[in-house]
Amino acid sequence: LMSSSSFDLIVIGGGPGGYVAAIRAAQLGLSVACVEKRGALGGTCLNVGCIPSKALLASSHHFESAQKHLADHGVIAAEVKLDLARMMARKGEVVEHLTKGVAFLFKKNKITQFDGTACITAPGQVAVTDAEGAKQTLTAGKILIATGSVSADLPNLTVDEKRIVTSTGALALESVPQRLAVIGAGVIGLELGSVWRRLGAEVTLIEYLDAALPGMDGELRRTAKRVFGSKQGLKFRFSTRVASAQAHENGVTLTLEPAAGGEAETLEADVALVAVGRRPYTAGLGLEALGVNLDAKGFICVNTLFETSVAGIYAVGDVIGGPMLAHKAEEEGVAVAAIIAGEAVGEVDHGMIPGVVYTHPEVATIGQSEEALKEAGVEYLVGKFAFMANARARSVGETEGFVKLLVCAQTDKILGAHMVGSQAGEMIAEAAAAMRGGLTATELGQTCYAHPSLGEAVKEAALAAHGRAIHM
Ligand code: FAD
Repeated sequence: LMSSSSFDLIVIGGGPGGYVAAIRAAQLGLSVACVEKRGALGGTCLNVGCIPSKALLASSHHFESAQKHLADHGVIAAEVKLDLARMMARKGEVVEHLTKGVAFLFKKNKITQFDGTACITAPGQVAVTDAEGAKQTLTAGKILIATGSVSADLPNLTVDEKRIVTSTGALALESVPQRLAVIGAGVIGLELGSVWRRLGAEVTLIEYLDAALPGMDGELRRTAKRVFGSKQGLKFRFSTRVASAQAHENGVTLTLEPAAGGEAETLEADVALVAVGRRPYTAGLGLEALGVNLDAKGFICVNTLFETSVAGIYAVGDVIGGPMLAHKAEEEGVAVAAIIAGEAVGEVDHGMIPGVVYTHPEVATIGQSEEALKEAGVEYLVGKFAFMANARARSVGETEGFVKLLVCAQTDKILGAHMVGSQAGEMIAEAAAAMRGGLTATELGQTCYAHPSLGEAVKEAALAAHGRAIHM
């Protein structure tokens, strides 16, 4: 069956980059189609990423609190039991609610949704093949690629999503593994490692580098090692390489080698999670034939207007690289819609994208690390405030962590903010707004925060940059 439809813009991929671009473009008056092959909108983030992981982090946190921490508050929960099937069902309900919410927003904004796999057959022309194999050709003035990313592979192991899993399998295990090996101590490894540790697994994270959370400020990395390692009991194997992993009937045998070279050893686990990053996903789009340039790692090359090397074809989100985060993809979706609709050009500053690890406590970061400032020879002041000295943190019993602001010694502007704390993922937005607005540390310190609030630690850190914190 062949039919043809024409649009101003065809968006390929219904994730945070694609669906946000589609909504904004429709708001700006364009006729928009969005092609998604997954069978649900929301992309990796809503279906197998941000949202299901946060649902399981919340549920497993409640489980651990009930077991270990409620008694501190004088709440005695006798015989705490795990109903993993219910926990997973709840996760599914959260995901379904949100993906249906995006579908509702598409209807509201009159965006035409196509279920199927898209291939760009020529500039301005997209072939969509549905699950039954039926083909349809769409045409448009502009095409936006927002096909995202997939889990990166490792040599010498084969993912089966049962014994050797990616994050997708780790979000859907049917029972709690006794021993979980996590390859990679980045954000996803720490989050999913924490989920299964809380539910009873013995979790070992194997990391090639010498600390968790590669790329983040050194103080965050050291704190993460101490809090999630010594205090919470995640087992870390740093400076160690996984040479291979072999699934067998009873589990997985991993072969580990010191990163610096040396004698190999084996580690037995029931399940191994591969969490070594993500790679851009462009398979089957027809990019080579079109002449759309990719970089050495397979990311689509774009200019500051998100244009690829072929006129009329744009790209945003994980598939173009930069911080591979949902909110970064969303900002780019908004920006590219404005560009395509001929509105003012909005740039997306990759140096101002916050990053959050939703463990407990949370780890949150934005802007430059101390290491990066030192290397660039920038003179800076450090303002630091510990939650130990914050009244709200004391009241609620969440005293782990600190807020650290890095402030330009010349301009007093905030160059970076790094936090560990139970609500750090919410509080990082204050630093983002201050940096976006160009507030100085002095001005941030003059802002009146409600008392008692965890946010007061941000104010005090700003004051501390000039040696004027009140409560420390
Ligand atoms: P995606 O969300 O990957 O969407 C791309 C979509 O395109 C997919 O649905 C795919 O099916 C579709 N597609 C691909 N090719 C075609 C084709 N040819 N035709 C039709 N459709 C196609 N980020 C955060 O900011 N916060 C978090 O807490 C967070 N947690 C995460 C946890 C996990 C376990 C994982 C895996 C990721 C997490 N991320 C998180 C990252 C986040 O999911 C991604 O950065 C985000 O989804 C990228 O959005 P995107 O629109 O670029 O691509």
